[in-house]
Amino acid sequence: MLDSIASHESAVRGYVRSFPAVFQSATGSWLTTHDGRRYLDFFAGAGALNYGHNNPLVKAALLEYIAADGVQHGLDLATEAKVGFLNTFTDTILRPRKLDYKLQFTGPTGTNAVEAATKLARKLKQRSHIVAFTNAYHGHSLGSLALTGNQYYHDEHYGSHNNVTHLPYDGYLGDFDTSLLLEKMLADSSSGLPKPAAVILETIQGEGGVRVAKVDWLRRVAELCQQHDVLLIVDDIQVGNGRTGTFFSFEPSGIKPDLVCLSKSIGGGLPMSLLLIKPECDGWSPGQHTGTFRGNNLAFVAGRALLSYWESDGFATRIAQSGQLIESRLCSLAARYPHSGFQVRGRGMIWGLDVQSGELAQQISSTAFEQGLVIETSGATDQVVKLLPPLTTEYQELQAGLDLLERAVEITLAKQSDSDQSALPQQPLVPAQPASPAQLVSLPIVSPLMISDYGN
Ligand code: PMP
Repeated sequence: MLDSIASHESAVRGYVRSFPAVFQSATGSWLTTHDGRRYLDFFAGAGALNYGHNNPLVKAALLEYIAADGVQHGLDLATEAKVGFLNTFTDTILRPRKLDYKLQFTGPTGTNAVEAATKLARKLKQRSHIVAFTNAYHGHSLGSLALTGNQYYHDEHYGSHNNVTHLPYDGYLGDFDTSLLLEKMLADSSSGLPKPAAVILETIQGEGGVRVAKVDWLRRVAELCQQHDVLLIVDDIQVGNGRTGTFFSFEPSGIKPDLVCLSKSIGGGLPMSLLLIKPECDGWSPGQHTGTFRGNNLAFVAGRALLSYWESDGFATRIAQSGQLIESRLCSLAARYPHSGFQVRGRGMIWGLDVQSGELAQQISSTAFEQGLVIETSGATDQVVKLLPPLTTEYQELQAGLDLLERAVEITLAKQSDSDQSALPQQPLVPAQPASPAQLVSLPIVSPLMISDYGN
């Protein structure tokens, strides 16, 4: 069956190359192939399946809706499904957080929300320039691509570099506070930075290698935006929807972005994207930014069903506990290879094991797949093994997945050792006892990346 993919699908296909299997069914945190092999999924549709595959709440709501011939497509007509989603999102998510955003449903995928956000900012401020950050990822349509750092996705002939300046993200220059550079460049009329309409950022850069911005840095950037009459756009497409432990990733910082991009898990695994707009920024004229597939009704139904996870604090507590488990297991793993330079970064249930080499990370991912774990890489050179399990993953499943990852690292390093003794960290093939809880407590707290040799 994979031959058909190779014969008929464009060379642009990507994940199927990393995970060469034909999947047939999926529930919770598990994927099953057509020949019955089961894989634990620590990739979760790149964050589109925070609540697991075929979540029972989604399944029941969709089956009922379809059985009743609910409207499937309606452009932006009023439908019961849309009203239900709007009301539930407002009551469950926005109001308890004292947020009064308007919702704009954009085209179905994340990049559509980014396009809408940057276009709206440009229209409101009557300025064309946007500030983005190093290692940023905002999508691949041309406006969003201009904001995306990694050169692999660029080609000068796309003409997509216009009207964007990338400045260093938090941690990009080691301990240097890069918000000072933004401050100076915004204030200095001779800095060469055109006054921007907006600054766009991810609070944790998922595709950029799980880089975590400090709360103080986020606050400072938000203050600077306010001071200079520049809009702040937070792209919460990957790390929103509870991924970091709170519904919005920016909640711990207390900032209130002017515009927030949401997608991936907001539609319960079905395509949906939206832009949250502060009421005073809602400067669109009717139908001025439109598209055929806005507001997917099935996604309204699926997404609304999942918002019930946020009706109490229990879910956030569960994410925090699962996050602690992942963090301690990863720190323990990194500590077993002290000469390798492995770094652990993350928050909530997004974590990265930076193994400092794209080749090594890819081998770990492939070996993990052979062992039964789907896990991706990210970062400028794909040097980070990224853990993105569904937030609903059970404790035992998390342990099992972490065991598989640990095993994959062992096997990969052992193979490397066989082929090149000298290039390897000097590790026993059968590692010592796992770190005791006391050892774990003394492990370094995860901090933003401190290495400075990144190209973008
Ligand atoms: N922004 C961020 C932060 C993302 O992680 C992604 C997808 N990985 C996008 C935008 C683009 O979303 P999509 O691929 O759905 O267009």
